[in-house]
Amino acid sequence: MRFGTVIDRNVGRVFCRFDGDTAIVYGAPPWLGGKETGKTFAMNDVVLAAPLRPGKIMCVGRNYAAHAKEMGNELPKEPMIFLKPPSSIAGPDDTVILPKGATRVEHEGELAIVIGTPLKKATREEASAAIFGYTCALDVSARDWQKGDGQWWRAKGSDTFCPIGPHIETQLDVAAASVICRVNGVTKQNGRTTDMIFDIPTFIAHVSQVMTLHPGDLFLSGSPEGVGPIVDGDAVEVEVTGLGVLSVKVSAEKA
Ligand code: ZN
Repeated sequence: MRFGTVIDRNVGRVFCRFDGDTAIVYGAPPWLGGKETGKTFAMNDVVLAAPLRPGKIMCVGRNYAAHAKEMGNELPKEPMIFLKPPSSIAGPDDTVILPKGATRVEHEGELAIVIGTPLKKATREEASAAIFGYTCALDVSARDWQKGDGQWWRAKGSDTFCPIGPHIETQLDVAAASVICRVNGVTKQNGRTTDMIFDIPTFIAHVSQVMTLHPGDLFLSGSPEGVGPIVDGDAVEVEVTGLGVLSVKVSAEKA
């Protein structure tokens, strides 16, 4: 099934299940117990927003060997996790704002995973069973801040640095999906999830050993090789097999 969030001119953001040209309104996301309300929208009458407002956003760094190498890093011996704040979320067709003072901002196209049930000290099997669905994500990264700051709070966490969407797919085999990122129509990244160093159940279970995971938490699974700069005026697309295309624009911060 396909879920997401739409913006209606009159009622604002509404969580929906998508069925062809129809958005079926839910009272809340299913992972919070939400059910269909009986209301619907025509997809043509609404615009898509970020499919969810996640709780925690946990990201796996250096999870593709070729990407670790292009960044000059050793391969990690256990999942290398960092967090992005929920305030960094942006949606389909939103604009990524390049903050003043960040001189090199780069794209990292990634597969994202939505958690559907609580998890603590999970096994890999329990981690797999707790997945609600998948979406595309762009892990926007300011490299000068990433190198200079010690903590990655603004390098990875500035406003608009986590576009996600266009929707969440629940029934999808992502074991051998392609993760593609295009800038202005030119393919810059084209990786496969089979090349992940730590697979999805492994890094979810790893985090759950010390941090309780809640429904609506989000994981970004790491970036394949081919990262590079994005600048004012660029158009960036992330496409993952079966998940559609997440498109955003890039703009320098205005005075
Ligand atoms: Zn990343």
